[in-house]
Amino acid sequence: MSWSTINYQCGIATRIFTAFLPTNVGRHFYKCSKPNGYKCDYWKWVDDPLHPRVANLIHNLKNENDNLPLEKKTLETR
Ligand SMILES: [Zn+2]
Repeated sequence: MSWSTINYQCGIATRIFTAFLPTNVGRHFYKCSKPNGYKCDYWKWVDDPLHPRVANLIHNLKNENDNLPLEKKTLETR
């Protein structure tokens, strides 16, 4: 699927979001960009599914990365 594909459901362009679910980390998806309460249920993956091993690896790397500032703080205050 092409990045330039923009889908319309309720008349406005959908936005591309990035998923950070353990099973679909880093995967891009389209979602209705209207505010809550006005959204339609439009929702679609942009990327092909990741291999579970790759998804898990990215998830772990992201977790490690997210913990770095905390780790740095801990080391600095020691
Ligand atoms: Zn919509």
